[in-house]
Amino acid sequence: MPMNDLSSEKTLLIKGSLIEVHAFKGLLETQGIDVELRGEALLGATGEFGLDAAYAEIWITSSQLEQAKAIMDQNNKKGEPWFCRECGEQNEFNFEICWKCSSENIESDL
Ligand SMILES: [Zn+2]
Repeated sequence: MPMNDLSSEKTLLIKGSLIEVHAFKGLLETQGIDVELRGEALLGATGEFGLDAAYAEIWITSSQLEQAKAIMDQNNKKGEPWFCRECGEQNEFNFEICWKCSSENIESDL
């Protein structure tokens, strides 16, 4: 990985669960953004609560901030509706469970 000028400023982009942050890190890196992860989770302080409870932060070079925000906006908008496995009802992409029968959206898992 090429190193940037050490004098380049870093800016906090997002803060979230370690899992969330890792997903965005991958997304940003595929778009050519240099990402730095920070947070207590990375210092080995997660023990008792596990990864779900750990938070982390994404810091990026300030000059790439606008580009990174654009990528995240795009990511937030591109969700597609999904169809419930149980009742066949169509749900908005940001619904985690079916509005009609409350089944989980199984497809969202890896
Ligand atoms: Zn349903």
